[in-house]
Amino acid sequence: MMNYGLFIDYEWCSGCHACELACKQEHGHKTDEWGIRVIERMYRGRDKNVFEYVPIPTEFCDFCMQRVAEGKKPACVHHCLTKCMEFGPMEQMSNLATKKKKTVVFGRTF
Ligand code: SF4
Ligand code: SF4
Repeated sequence: MMNYGLFIDYEWCSGCHACELACKQEHGHKTDEWGIRVIERMYRGRDKNVFEYVPIPTEFCDFCMQRVAEGKKPACVHHCLTKCMEFGPMEQMSNLATKKKKTVVFGRTF
């Protein structure tokens, strides 16, 4: 058993949705099933509204166990256009998160 983390540096997420589509293609999800969703949110900054995108895995995300077992990266990480996603041992992903400003790390053991 090992703890893995899916790391997302959403400061650099462009909202392109490639991760959503890559996941769908990899897993053959139905139209209304998504392994990851990119949420758009807006907040009031110092002098303007700020928009940001935050990708969030859903209950359909299995961390691409099959790809990982074959030594590949999860489909979403592989296809992320801005390379703002990473995957690996939880400790490494947590360390990565401490060096960036806007990050989330989703963890799973398998
Ligand atoms: S890790 Fe795999 S299953 Fe999870 S969101 Fe990414 S592509 Fe989908
Ligand atoms: S593929 Fe990367 S840049 Fe595009 S929405 Fe997903 S996380 Fe953001």
